Parts: sequence; structure tokens; C-alpha cells
Amino acid sequence: MSYDPNNIFAKILRGELPCVKLYEDDHTLAFMDIMPQAEGHVLVLPKAPSESLLDADPAVFGPLFATVQRLAKAVKDGMGADGITVTQFNGPAAGQTVFHLHVHIIPRWEGVALRRHSGTMENADVLKANAAKIMAAL
Ligand code: AMP
Repeated sequence: MSYDPNNIFAKILRGELPCVKLYEDDHTLAFMDIMPQAEGHVLVLPKAPSESLLDADPAVFGPLFATVQRLAKAVKDGMGADGITVTQFNGPAAGQTVFHLHVHIIPRWEGVALRRHSGTMENADVLKANAAKIMAAL
């Protein structure tokens, strides 16, 4: 498989599709996951095109994980989470559904199970309310 420049995240990066944006710099973009596995589920993308971790230029990982750390702290503080799960899927067999490298930041609370991956579409007002909490902690 080769990188499809019309995948959903490439379109979001080009501004052709909307997202509930949290943070952007020269190398990365962070926004709310539209089918969250928990309240406050965030995605972080490098702007550089690659399908997954496996074909990425290693130069993307420094800026990418700097943003992942920054957002993970803001998600934990803003959402009042007990912990943070970070996940990243490579290939359909691993559960990847969008083929532009991205990292999931998922807040966790003691005793609360994760919802299904790519399960239910969240209400836009809920996404925006959670985004406001996270951005207040950025
Ligand atoms: P993955 O299975 O790691 O490729 O995850 C793709 C993630 O992107 C899933 O968690 C989806 O809920 C999420 N997603 C799909 N489309 C959109 C979109 N338009 N905006 C925000 N998140 C999305």
C-alpha cells in the first residue's frame, strides 16, 4: 500500500474537512477523535505524510512525541483523568482504519473500561465542551 493523499486526515490537514482542533505547530496537529473511546480522546498527527509508524521519516518522531506529551498532560489535567493510555495502530490487522500516522491519547479513570475502537460518533457539542477543558489546561 502507498500513502493516499485523499485519506481523511490528509484532508483535515489541508483544511478540506473540519475537525475540533486543539493545537497546531509547524510539524503537528492535535484534534478531538470523532468516535472517542473515552471522554476527551485526542489524536495527534505529524503533518508529514506517512501511512503509519513503519514508513515514517524518523525525523517526525521528536516533534510528534513532544506534542503527544504536551497534549497528554493537558488531557490529564483538563479532563481530571487518573491516567492516560497512548495507542498507535499500524495496518488493518492491528486495527488501523485511517492511513495517515497518528497517536491516540485516551484519558482513563479507575474502574472505567474503554469504549469500542471506532465505535460511536460523538455529539459535536460534547466534543467541543471537552476540547474547551483540554485547551484550558494546555
Ligand atoms: P485508527 O484505527 O488508529 O486508524 O484510528 C482512527 C481514529 O480516527 C478512530 O479513533 C476514529 O474514531 C477517528 N476518526 C475517524 N474519522 C475522524 C474524523 N473525521 N475526525 C476525527 N477523528 C476521526
